[in-house]
Amino acid sequence: MQIEDYIKAGKIAGEVREIVRVKDWIGKTVYEICEEVEGQIKKRGAKCAFPVNTSINEVAAHYTAEPNDPITIKDTDLVNIDLGVQINGYIADTAVTVCYDTQFDGLVQAAEEALRNAMSMIKSGVKVSDIGRTIESTIKQMGFKPIANLSGHSLEQYTIHAGKSIPNIWSIGGFSLSENSAYACEPFVTTEQGGGFVRNGQIKNIFALNSRKKTKDSEADRLLDFIWENFNMLPFALRWITKEWEEKKARELLEILIKKKAVQAYPILIEVNEQRVSQAEHTFIPIENGVTITTITQ
Ligand code: MN
Ligand code: MN
Repeated sequence: MQIEDYIKAGKIAGEVREIVRVKDWIGKTVYEICEEVEGQIKKRGAKCAFPVNTSINEVAAHYTAEPNDPITIKDTDLVNIDLGVQINGYIADTAVTVCYDTQFDGLVQAAEEALRNAMSMIKSGVKVSDIGRTIESTIKQMGFKPIANLSGHSLEQYTIHAGKSIPNIWSIGGFSLSENSAYACEPFVTTEQGGGFVRNGQIKNIFALNSRKKTKDSEADRLLDFIWENFNMLPFALRWITKEWEEKKARELLEILIKKKAVQAYPILIEVNEQRVSQAEHTFIPIENGVTITTITQ
């Protein structure tokens, strides 16, 4: 049952996010963080909806660890840890910013406060332009800037970005929230020195299937089938296929699939003025007179 699976996935995602929030990650590599957080999801009987993102400082989103990635968290770093849980393809998408340098507490709190204010106004029929306005004004009142070109999104079975956007700024048009549909809301916040936008970076380490069209390379086609069977159309990381193929071979095959446009590679997203970016995120389902926040914890 769809709603029940959304709720189950959300409960697990919320529990894992709270573990992530309180843990001291200083000195850990991003590889260790990803493996540990993904392990926490699997141990609860669910699957990852996408590779755990560990985006550090001016990287706002879409960085996941390479196999044995040595990048290590320092006590001055701010890290957006974004995790996804799926049950039968029904997704819970949630994120928390961890930071051990108190000078960035305000930046972290602004994303949390913007998310809280957005959640408190949700019910079916609410216009997403009004949600964007609330997020933007909360962030600006706290002395920070929203990231204008990142937004929340509708969710569907095996689809994370299902076509509708929930803006983080006031914007014209948009749609109204439907009852019993799933959405993610995710304010991203930067400092006043930030440009308030992200650009694509060079690094691409999150991938997703684009088409199941065969390549004529039998080994690449075997990888294509492996991706479909294990991840469906959801994102994956190289780490997730090096259990089956040796790393060098996996990279070669993935490259073939990218060239043939069977697989898409997603670049990391970097704040245009290289300022730090915080993030908070919940998945929710509007109901007649309010909201079920699937990833909230009591
Ligand atoms: Mn997310
Ligand atoms: Mn999301």
